[in-house]
Amino acid sequence: MGRFAYVNGHYVRERDAEVSAFDRGFLFADGVYEVSAILNGRMVDNDLHLARLDRSLGELQIDWPMSERALLQVQHELIRRNRTKEGLIYLQVTRGAAPRDFKFPEAAVPSLFMFTQERKLRSSAAARSGVSVVTMPDIRWKRPDIKSIALLPQALGKQQAAEEGAFEGWMVDDKGFVTEGTSSNAWIVTHDGVIRTRPAREGSGILAGITRQSIIRLAKETGIKIEEKAFTPAEAYNAAEAMMTSAGAFVVPIVRIDGRPVGTGSPGPVAPRLREIYLEMADEQTRRRPV
Ligand code: PMP
Repeated sequence: MGRFAYVNGHYVRERDAEVSAFDRGFLFADGVYEVSAILNGRMVDNDLHLARLDRSLGELQIDWPMSERALLQVQHELIRRNRTKEGLIYLQVTRGAAPRDFKFPEAAVPSLFMFTQERKLRSSAAARSGVSVVTMPDIRWKRPDIKSIALLPQALGKQQAAEEGAFEGWMVDDKGFVTEGTSSNAWIVTHDGVIRTRPAREGSGILAGITRQSIIRLAKETGIKIEEKAFTPAEAYNAAEAMMTSAGAFVVPIVRIDGRPVGTGSPGPVAPRLREIYLEMADEQTRRRPV
């Protein structure tokens, strides 16, 4: 018989352990975890692990899925059922299942998942012979060019924006330049009518947006000047216009940044014009060809 796992209130066989595909752990990596060692059938330093869990949950504003006492009981019960004498117990708490939206859902019930693994901890070949390491750049997570589901930073950013009454968050790099929106590319329009956005070549710190790519092509075809160059928030505050692009929003004018009106404080004229041009292209594409 297989081992047991614990999933949201139930002890189930590992092969039957299932969570919703809409779980934010699956969609956004929006969750936290702890791994405690088991020796002599008991957990090692588990109180410290639960204290760190408490901190991680607090930082992400995820509620405990049950009281700490109850959770400890589940850990004990799972170890008892699996008769784990030496190994690991893994526990994961996510924000739970909700319709996909970067911001935190109003009502999501945190998911709790636990399993155990047998592992020889007391004596191992690694501990006997020693091991080797190689060094590497710390890229956690500095690969925004990959459209990865590790979206926790963006979910936190979108949530912060929503809490501050904004529609989108613009992220700023350590040199003080805007990289992009949490789920969109960022643009300004200069007073000379040039549209400006950060370059999307390798290592430039943004996702190469498909809408961005089409807008660049359409702008060139229309005779709108385009400059692929990073800008600072201050340059954006003082720009004629600002806008964002994404497949989920097309082109949207931005009229306020950090509480300051951009340009006249109303859309236009360039962003709405680009939106129109984009929609014409998209309409033509979708009317002509079946999807
Ligand atoms: N940047 C980020 C971080 C995004 O998540 C997205 C869209 N999901 C974009 C830019 C825009 O890309 P696209 O135009 O391909 O939707």
